[in-house]
Amino acid sequence: MQYKNVANIKKLYRGKQNLPPQNLPYLDKLAQLGPGDLIKNEQTPAKSEVDASFKLLRKRQIKKYINAKILIPLINLHNIREKHYKLAYTCFNGIYQDGYTLKNAGYYCNSRVCLICNNIRTAKYINKYYDTLQEYQDLHFITLTVPAVNGDVLRDTIGDMYRKFTLIRYKIKRKDKLIGLRKLECNYNIEKNWYNPHYHLIVQGKHIAARIRDEWLRLYPNAVKSAQDIQEVEDEYTEFNEKSLLELFKYMTKLWVSKNGKINFYPAYAIDTIIEAMWGKRIFVAYGLGKQVSENVNTEEYKMVIDKYRNDIWEWSKDMVNWVSIQYGDTLLPYDSGAKVLKKYQNKIEILK
Ligand SMILES: [Zn+2]
Repeated sequence: MQYKNVANIKKLYRGKQNLPPQNLPYLDKLAQLGPGDLIKNEQTPAKSEVDASFKLLRKRQIKKYINAKILIPLINLHNIREKHYKLAYTCFNGIYQDGYTLKNAGYYCNSRVCLICNNIRTAKYINKYYDTLQEYQDLHFITLTVPAVNGDVLRDTIGDMYRKFTLIRYKIKRKDKLIGLRKLECNYNIEKNWYNPHYHLIVQGKHIAARIRDEWLRLYPNAVKSAQDIQEVEDEYTEFNEKSLLELFKYMTKLWVSKNGKINFYPAYAIDTIIEAMWGKRIFVAYGLGKQVSENVNTEEYKMVIDKYRNDIWEWSKDMVNWVSIQYGDTLLPYDSGAKVLKKYQNKIEILK
């Protein structure tokens, strides 16, 4: 449904497009209402709903800006994933306004690089698992690492980790029930050009956590023992709350390091190596918690509202760092907000080379 109805909107307003914006105010509901008007059932949305929508849009405005910074070097690699990165570049590019409702006019790209899609995914996983996990006592975080590897064997190494974890799971299943979540992550060390794939897990039962760690060390005798960390969730976070789960879900693939208040993204080749190595592999796996949640974010419906009635398409402008009306040329978020995002983030974000 990309840019659905854009042709109709363009047709509807043909001939009015050259008028300056002040002559074409928002279609005020009261002023425009006539007998049999199509908008008669629509109510002006509550202020709280409008505020929440704009808060979300402002977050996405920042994410669109950062996405572009990461994605341009990835697109410029001109490899087999170029199309994938281009789709991510135009993720959530158009917003369709139907009266008071704002909807994605394009698509969500589903890329693991995309900050917008990652954010939606995080919310989706928390919605699915938070309540369920809260019912369990004695939750533990575990980190399982393997020795660092070069990029050319990263995919095989991840495959090996999957197989070995499956072996461990079968062993545990003989006596116990494995309940928890497992997440795959990969860090990159730019000085050494090494990749550090690892698992983060949250599992129920201290003895199960210890068993997983011990079996892992048996299968990976060269893994650093002290790196196989177990932490009691309640110790770490006082109590199990959304924050503790957020830590686990936060990034589909964390592709940066924070340093001195700056966010340094891995170089494009390293991000691409990680994306390639994880391609088609599950990042999150749930055990004993019902059906797996899909990574697809297009299933999530985000209702956003605006208090100015209009039928329009707002299209992302990378120069304005804002969504701009295709009809009137005004901006969806405050006109100067794009410049503020630029000012705040252009020196804060760096793509390592
Ligand atoms: Zn996306």
